[in-house]
Amino acid sequence: MDQVGVPANELLAELDRRRATEPDVHGARLFGLVYPTGRDDVEDLVLEVQRRYLFHNALNPFKFPEIAALEREVVTMTSDLLNLSGDGGGSMTSGGTESILMSMLVNRERARARGIERPQILAPHSAHPAYAKAAHYFGMEHVQVPIDADWRADVAAAAKLIGPSTAVVVASAFTYPHGVMDPVADLAALAAEHGAGCHVDACIGGFVLPFLERLGHDVPPWDFRVDGVTEISADVHKYGYVPKGASVVLHRDADWSQHQVFLYDQWPAGIYGSPAIGGARPAAPIAVAWAVMRYLGVDGYTEMMRGVMETASRVRAAVESIPEVEIVSAPIGPVLCMHSESIDLYAVADVMDAKGWNLNRNVEPRGVHLMLSPAHANVVDELIADLIDAVAHHGTAKDGQARYS
Ligand SMILES: *Cc1c(COP(=O)(O)O)cnc(C)c1O
Repeated sequence: MDQVGVPANELLAELDRRRATEPDVHGARLFGLVYPTGRDDVEDLVLEVQRRYLFHNALNPFKFPEIAALEREVVTMTSDLLNLSGDGGGSMTSGGTESILMSMLVNRERARARGIERPQILAPHSAHPAYAKAAHYFGMEHVQVPIDADWRADVAAAAKLIGPSTAVVVASAFTYPHGVMDPVADLAALAAEHGAGCHVDACIGGFVLPFLERLGHDVPPWDFRVDGVTEISADVHKYGYVPKGASVVLHRDADWSQHQVFLYDQWPAGIYGSPAIGGARPAAPIAVAWAVMRYLGVDGYTEMMRGVMETASRVRAAVESIPEVEIVSAPIGPVLCMHSESIDLYAVADVMDAKGWNLNRNVEPRGVHLMLSPAHANVVDELIADLIDAVAHHGTAKDGQARYS
């Protein structure tokens, strides 16, 4: 640390310099890591709410009962969106990973109550790494379900793998790598038949699919309306348009929801309890999630999703017009990935990087991955033109290694 403190203006200037070397989060040239709305009114609200709650701590609901109430209201709004009836439960967490961890912990406890010593997580090959992480953290076994030719979980393969030690079957609605829906109803039925839980990973889809449904898109059943679905994770810090640090985990069963809570009183400072991994928790993501959800409302989110899907259709049509490139499978929402049998899309992505885009690379199948946000509507023509140009004029890929996001 500096011996003598540095003046604020120097620090801000240094941060500005350092930040300028990295992608601009407002520039709409990043995909998946940030979800720019391109809307000043939403950003102004975020800033105002952040300012009010920046130093609060959501740890103690007795000291800050209103923050606890805001969290409950976010959970209730999300429950309504995902058709969870009044008797369920859940909490906010710091992100999709923590939501998944808490669900896997509850599923482990549920399996242990049935006498299973080393409970298994049955998760599709396309499921997020957070399930493997949960298995690693919680002493569970992570069993991968193969995916089919459409990149969806193979239900017949899952049926062969499920057994007495299965604690939970995972289904993504929809998947990060290919943007496709796993067969949720079939996987949930399989889980129920074996007395296992079924976690639907709607980290992306939770704030996409309800609005696609309202826009009249064909959305297969995936939420709490599906029998056998026991938990759902939905990230507010993705298509909920809230800055990082906001996700929701929901349990169909309020009693099991309580198993998320850790209580302890064997220390000198009295009873201590927390609903998730964090102890001290920032209150700003809770308050901002509450505010953005109420500000946009169902209609606001639906209109924003209409725009995102228009952008997605335009990109899709452009890709389909390039003979060398195809869209992988049948993505339901704003995640598109591309594959080519004849050209190396990593080399195309390198050209796109040089043009200032930040396309993600997929490994299976080798190609590029695009996650579209509302702000991409402002750059879609340039994106398409650059992509067509990059396909036409590319060299060899400089980096064979795919990078996650
Ligand atoms: C982003 C994501 C997660 C994990 O969420 P984090 O907020 O990054 O921890 C889990 N599942 C899917 C499908 C995701 O896209």
